[in-house]
Amino acid sequence: SRLIVAVDGPSGSGKSSVCRAAAKTVGAAYLDTGAMYRAATWYCLDQDVDLDDEDAVALAVESLPLCISTDPDHQVITVGETDVTAEIREARISEKVSEVATNRRARSLLIAAQRQLIDDAGFVVAEGRDITSVVAPDAQVRVLLTASAEARLRRRGLQMGGTQSEQDLKVQVLERDKKDSAASNFTEAADGVAVLDSSDLTLEETVEALVGRIQG
Ligand code: C5P
Repeated sequence: SRLIVAVDGPSGSGKSSVCRAAAKTVGAAYLDTGAMYRAATWYCLDQDVDLDDEDAVALAVESLPLCISTDPDHQVITVGETDVTAEIREARISEKVSEVATNRRARSLLIAAQRQLIDDAGFVVAEGRDITSVVAPDAQVRVLLTASAEARLRRRGLQMGGTQSEQDLKVQVLERDKKDSAASNFTEAADGVAVLDSSDLTLEETVEALVGRIQG
């Protein structure tokens, strides 16, 4: 049977870990749309596309040979023959991804690809910034996963081994949110979207809360 779970949230909200774990628990596919924007950015950099050139970015995304797995146990993303699964997490990508994500034509191409992947999967947890509002507004389960700026920075620090100064982290996480909000407003839940605030929850508790919404 078809069931779409749409989850949006800012960076550092724990979205990816929560959604992947919830998908595994309920036996659904998992779609990380942020990885698609990251792969598009990887490709633009690989092809030496000038990110200030809107048409060039759109053209590159039009010919992007992207393949993304929706198996929560086996997350692989390739561009052509290259496995970019690890590289798309690098800082050089995080720093530039908003420039590609704010390109209108690039967005509409990636959104179309996301809708196709969701359609093919049937039962899927899809996460990003605009899933509840744009990609799959008719999803049966729609959740905005939030966390206080403090909690998000703390988690980033843990994720990155705590080697960077708090100030660097603040700039990385909060600046990216500011850039992203030019493309999509994910800080406020649209009508019918449930807010799940994970600030004071463990990963397990947050997964449980999401699974409860899917099974309830
Ligand atoms: O979720 P993640 O941090 O990997 O997303 C990377 C970037 O992709 C975001 O910072 C944002 O610019 C973009 N993005 C988006 N719409 C989505 C998912 C991600 O614009 N649905």
